[in-house]
Amino acid sequence: MSLISYFSSETLIEFLRRSNYYAKQNRNEYSLKIYKAISDLYDWIDCPCNDDCNCKKYKCEKHLVRKKGVTFDDYYKHFLDCYVDSRSHDVVRKGRSSGRGSKSNQATNDIEDDWANISANTSKTHLLCSDWCDPLFESMARNFRPSGDTIYRAKWLSILCFDTFAAYDNGSVALLKRDFKKPPDFFNLMKRIREDIIIHLDKTGKSLQDFRKYDNPSEFFDAIPNDSLRPIGNIIDKLYLTL
Ligand SMILES: [Zn+2]
Ligand SMILES: [Zn+2]
Repeated sequence: MSLISYFSSETLIEFLRRSNYYAKQNRNEYSLKIYKAISDLYDWIDCPCNDDCNCKKYKCEKHLVRKKGVTFDDYYKHFLDCYVDSRSHDVVRKGRSSGRGSKSNQATNDIEDDWANISANTSKTHLLCSDWCDPLFESMARNFRPSGDTIYRAKWLSILCFDTFAAYDNGSVALLKRDFKKPPDFFNLMKRIREDIIIHLDKTGKSLQDFRKYDNPSEFFDAIPNDSLRPIGNIIDKLYLTL
């Protein structure tokens, strides 16, 4: 049992309120940036799955799917907004063009090199579906171990599949590794988190729509509509953030 299945829905809601409270005080206003990234890069569609898909057990109604034809540059802009302190944007951009690779730049270059494949991918599933991970993203996620060295790889996978992968930072990855018994790679970390969410939903009787609404950043960010649905990956990210 891990954090999500251990705590009640009321407690998880309070953890997320606290996360949004501190996000409001952070000059980057990350909650708002995530909301804008979702609006620009994704569409909410009605659940496209058959009745035998695991998501239907939890009364799934909506899936978050990537819009077609969005360019790498558009993703990169949102990647910086959502995951890099605004004061470091220029340094990170320059590092990329001059080829001096920081950890962020190596991860970014790998995504750009594979952009034709990524862009053509039309996967519509999410973390609670039976086939929850498309083979393209599964191979990327099996390729690295959760650690402080792979933060930007996880962040890229999260912004590419907000409803499947959770981003982490130095603090939260330490908690995730402890809570999920040192998973051998990022794919297995997400698989274990998936199992924990399923236990939580089974225990509490909550639906997936309920779970998506645990996180309500509109309490602190007026620009985010009340009752907007939240991506599963981002909820996990915020539950493990050490503030
Ligand atoms: Zn569904
Ligand atoms: Zn499904």
